Amino acid sequence: MKFIDEYQDRELVKKLAHRIDDHSTKKIRLMEFCGGHTHATMRHGLRQLVPETIEMRSGPGCPVCVTATTDLDKVITLAQLPRVIITTFGDIVRVPGSYSSLQQTKAKGADIRIVYSTMDALEIAKANPDKSVIFAGIGFETTAPTIAASIIKARQEGLENFYVLSLLKLTPPVMRALLDLGEVKLDGIIGPGHVSVVIGSRPYEFIPKDYGVAFVISGFEPLDILLCVNKLVEQIESDQPGVEIAYSRGVRPEGNIRALELMSEVFEADGANWRGIGIVPQSGLKIKEKYEHFDAAKAFAVSSKPAREPKGCRCGDILRGVAIPSECNLFGKVCTPERPVGPCMVSSEGACAAYYQFCGLESPRKKN
Ligand code: SF4
Repeated sequence: MKFIDEYQDRELVKKLAHRIDDHSTKKIRLMEFCGGHTHATMRHGLRQLVPETIEMRSGPGCPVCVTATTDLDKVITLAQLPRVIITTFGDIVRVPGSYSSLQQTKAKGADIRIVYSTMDALEIAKANPDKSVIFAGIGFETTAPTIAASIIKARQEGLENFYVLSLLKLTPPVMRALLDLGEVKLDGIIGPGHVSVVIGSRPYEFIPKDYGVAFVISGFEPLDILLCVNKLVEQIESDQPGVEIAYSRGVRPEGNIRALELMSEVFEADGANWRGIGIVPQSGLKIKEKYEHFDAAKAFAVSSKPAREPKGCRCGDILRGVAIPSECNLFGKVCTPERPVGPCMVSSEGACAAYYQFCGLESPRKKN
């Protein structure tokens, strides 16, 4: 663990924080795209450690949080079909849909199983040949290659009862959508580490070029994040926004070619519905015709009642960086991790869960 320890070294963290303090003269606002970064900045107290010139906002990088209620309702409706097993990753089962959650649906008898990989879902399909096993595919580019691999494997093995409902999303198009909305002025973006391991740094080049916003990809340890913030401050102070990697042990400019090949073998870009943002063109992944047998969206025609958003929940504003969790009237009172109203309080990557866990009812810094 020496390698990770080095990225948590308290003395180095303090030195770097001082360095940022020395260089940061302009008042700037940074967005950490990824929910993992929001949790890491809170867990390690980094928001308090950076100078007051720097404001940090959470973004839409929590796959469970950005899943639109209407899509979650669709999964819940599928779960109620006879002889169907729904498989999915953990957090989504507790997210309230319009009329129920997957957890409540399971309590009423639906067969809903949490898996740790799509390959587990394949095994469930093999063990239950008389049932249809649907994997609710929620995630970003990080998750897409393994889902693609499971579909290829299902085809190779001639599995007839395995399906994927692709709710997968792509990060660069939603970054463009947020910047186009222009609701919150951003000077720099802390780029997602895990997504960038797959797609590399090149797909983000439009951010400084078209919007003049600095962009640096970060890892998840305290030193990674401060190195990233330091690079962002340098870019912004010198008026030279660009794309940099502050996570070189994980990310290469070209990304992971094998993972990208797997993705493009099975998926193609399509519009996707993002909570709080709406339909963003080319920001999702749909299953290509060649693999359509495995596409749950084509195999099961279901219609759900019109979606209803949780009353008073500001997850959409938080995901767009327009608000912080403590600005939601329900935060910590009506909405807590035990009784979540919206997905940002449910998910292990949700901003509301991070604020509640690490700051209680306070803002991480009062001025925010
Ligand atoms: Fe939604 Fe709860 Fe967050 Fe408010 S505190 S935005 S209700 S998840």
